[in-house]
Amino acid sequence: MTVIQRLEAKATPDIEPVTRKTFDEVMVPVYAPSEMVPVRAHGLDVWDRNGKHYLDFTAGIGVTSLGHTHPVVVEALRAQADKLWHVGNGYTNEPVLQLARALTEATFADRAFFCNSGAEANEAACKLARKYAHARFGPSKSRVVSCVNSFHGRTLFTVSIGGQPKYTEGFGPLPPELVHIPFNDIEAAHAAIGDDVCAVVVEPVQGEGGVLPAEKAYLEFLRERCSATGALLIFDEVQCGMGRTGELFAYMGYGVTPDILTAAKALGNGYPVGAMLTTETVAGTFAPGAHGTTFGGNPLAASVALAVLQTVNTPAFLARVKQSSALLAQKLVAVVRDYPQVFATVRGSGLMLGMALADAYRGKAKDIAKAAEAQGLMLLIAGPDVVRLLPALVVSDAQIDEAVARIRRAVDAVLAGA
Ligand SMILES: *Cc1c(COP(=O)(O)O)cnc(C)c1O
Repeated sequence: MTVIQRLEAKATPDIEPVTRKTFDEVMVPVYAPSEMVPVRAHGLDVWDRNGKHYLDFTAGIGVTSLGHTHPVVVEALRAQADKLWHVGNGYTNEPVLQLARALTEATFADRAFFCNSGAEANEAACKLARKYAHARFGPSKSRVVSCVNSFHGRTLFTVSIGGQPKYTEGFGPLPPELVHIPFNDIEAAHAAIGDDVCAVVVEPVQGEGGVLPAEKAYLEFLRERCSATGALLIFDEVQCGMGRTGELFAYMGYGVTPDILTAAKALGNGYPVGAMLTTETVAGTFAPGAHGTTFGGNPLAASVALAVLQTVNTPAFLARVKQSSALLAQKLVAVVRDYPQVFATVRGSGLMLGMALADAYRGKAKDIAKAAEAQGLMLLIAGPDVVRLLPALVVSDAQIDEAVARIRRAVDAVLAGA
């Protein structure tokens, strides 16, 4: 062997094969993934290690909204990969400035901050709201109000703001001055939002909490109450934003404008990126050094997000989302009608839909999702009582037909005790 041959041999060492079982041996056990390990995907088509095909109605939990390996997104990443990956926050970069300009032109916002996830976007939003209130009203205006069953991420601050106690169990002491109120309850909001509140955080459509849209009057009330008390209204659009409801952001459909909006998930179609959008006035509370992140807004993430935004934010694309939503919802309503012992109702907004289980099948959402996987359909759940569908926004009518046929077969299998 020559020296070069030896080096080449060393550069491509034998890689030991891995299986689903490897997960249980080497991963910190915070997930319980399916036995199926995806290895390749395009659009809504996914293939596992054995070459078995699946129709993906999860979009990686509302992330790959343009479908897997969308050519425009792949090209944006590839082109930027040859130019510049990372410079650090001592320098800005062209893609991030283009992305910030595009997002502020498309929304109520004047300013953008970029990070790597939904939790980080919400963390930034709540820190900004605290600082804004402290600067204008003093340190006693520090309470954050959020909703029961809400989900805002897994950092200690955001998970504590989230309204699902099972996610904070064992992590105490938790940050103080956080108040949880029932979702869509105007009276509770009236009572909780006083002069000591700096921020009200709400998902316009609750995702993890069960696929529940806010009522328009509720968001209108929150807007009014926040303006009256000097609290900032934060819309967490990490799941419901970026075209999911058929509007670029859900607030546009409600006609209620927040002070801060957070986005992540579908913003990068699978490339990790999060954003916090806000007004000039609110952003002005932060100065250099007040907040930051190493990777946030790096050129790779920004190039991908810009390509995603330009693709999603056209009237034709968003109109098609509404059309697909109507078709899918109508077909799911028919499933609920045909299986009244299993399903109670269909709810949600746009292509964020949930099938809530009837009393007799409460707690069985996971069983239905598993049965669907056996039929070659990937589905999500939202808690134990709701089957959740988040297909890529580019889903075709034929894929909707096929998915609903597979749901019917899966439910038949569950009913047969298979
Ligand atoms: C997923 C989600 C988050 C958390 O996003 P991560 O990227 O997992 O940190 C926050 N809010 C909502 C509404 C979400 O759906």
